[in-house]
Amino acid sequence: MQISLLHYCGLAGLILVYAVLINGYWPTATLMMLEAFWILHAVLLVGSSWWVHRRFPHLALVYFSIGMTLAFMAEAVMSILRHQAAGDIVFYGSTETCCCKWNFILDSKKMDYVGDVMKLSQRLQYIMEQIPAGSRLADIGSDHGLLPVAAVRSGRVPQAVAGEVNDGPLRAAQKQVAEAGLTDRIMVRKGDGLAVIKAHEVDVITIAGMGGALITSILEQGKDKLASVKQLVLQPNVGEDILRRWLMKQQWVLIDEHIMEEDGKIYEILTAVPASASDLKQDELYRPLRLPGSTLVLNRDWLMQLGPLLVNKPNEIFFRKWQLEIRKLQAVLAQVSRSELEAAQHKQEQLRKQIEQLEEVLACLPKDKL
Ligand code: SAM
Repeated sequence: MQISLLHYCGLAGLILVYAVLINGYWPTATLMMLEAFWILHAVLLVGSSWWVHRRFPHLALVYFSIGMTLAFMAEAVMSILRHQAAGDIVFYGSTETCCCKWNFILDSKKMDYVGDVMKLSQRLQYIMEQIPAGSRLADIGSDHGLLPVAAVRSGRVPQAVAGEVNDGPLRAAQKQVAEAGLTDRIMVRKGDGLAVIKAHEVDVITIAGMGGALITSILEQGKDKLASVKQLVLQPNVGEDILRRWLMKQQWVLIDEHIMEEDGKIYEILTAVPASASDLKQDELYRPLRLPGSTLVLNRDWLMQLGPLLVNKPNEIFFRKWQLEIRKLQAVLAQVSRSELEAAQHKQEQLRKQIEQLEEVLACLPKDKL
């Protein structure tokens, strides 16, 4: 029995390490995804216990116990690793999901409640704070609808449109709005990008949690709706440079860039206003920057990548992001170095130069904000 207990504890320890790694590599996984992932493991373990139960009853007991533990791993990850209050995860049979669902929280990392007050994730909170008070808001790709609900509920905006192109997130947003009792002030609309709003209907548009290329194409396709918009708050998950290029070309000036880390992910939040409403001109914003102690000049291309406002106030997260990029480039370089093709030689040189320059930029940028 003691051996079985030791065996169980050893395996449980390994599973804990595995869970931490999975959570780190897959921070965007929702409860449903984690549930499917861990239940599969649980079924394998319980199945194995059945196969060995006649010849190795002690081992079968260990496997069965581990299997049962795995069945609750998704909830454990949510409550322990993601600090989601256990009471917010409610189990009930559901024809839709067959296992468990959120109570009123649709994504543990995006919101929780302290008493009756909604507490957004830091990322959504920052985005919300970029919305000028009293604006009419459209949140495109609203998913769970947390941002418009929080913005209206807190009194920051009088009304909002939550746009969604997909049915699942659309229903989630409708439910969120209904549960908040805000159906008269938040219009949840189905549609592609800015098609959900009419011209002159909103003052501020937020688009968050998508790739920079997708955000750019949403803005490009809905250009006719932007004439009356006073502010854009955008949070691309990747491809920030694509978005910066579009903003510049379309005469939107960045007035704020913020880089932050939450749950192991790094986010950039870009706020822009029409050039006609900004004192800062594009040429000033993207003026080449000479780095102290270096011959390197950060030209427009560099600034598009790094962020023209971020390079002037680089924080610890900024340095971490670009150090991670260097590591990715080094990994690609190691791969390319194995090839003997002539094209690979050229690629190697390019990568080496890129890495060297990035290292130089990071070494020369001011560190007084750290
Ligand atoms: N904005 C939320 C946030 O930042 O937490 C949700 C981000 S979620 C990862 C992206 C959402 O954008 C999904 O719900 C998806 O259905 C929606 N979406 C993707 N393309 C869209 C489009 N062209 N128009 C409207 N919604 C879109």
